Amino acid sequence: MTTTERNKYKELLEARKAELAVGLRNREGIAIEKTADALDEVQLAGERELAIRNLDREANLLRSVRLALARIADGSYGTCLHCEEDISTKRLAAVPWTAYCLKCQEAADRHQFEDSVEMLADAA
Ligand SMILES: [Zn+2]
Repeated sequence: MTTTERNKYKELLEARKAELAVGLRNREGIAIEKTADALDEVQLAGERELAIRNLDREANLLRSVRLALARIADGSYGTCLHCEEDISTKRLAAVPWTAYCLKCQEAADRHQFEDSVEMLADAA
């Protein structure tokens, strides 16, 4: 991978990181919202649950983005963490925070090996 390409992905990932961080901050408010009204309480519980699920997913994604930036910094970015093959540029363009090539990702989706948290984030 060329320096130009790496810088492009770095910019992409930095932008995504900032976006996710803002989203997570804003949504913390929704997740803990409370009401005295019993009827609203039922609806809010559902909304809270949904908000918390989204929060979880975005927190996982943010973690993957941070790890990808760390791999850019240490020079291992673009190489599959599992089989150490190059990850295709097409895949990196679609999922720039991915740590695995498509083949390993598909295997993981089927069998869920060790780094399953990252796998789930990748699918988001
Ligand atoms: Zn692989």
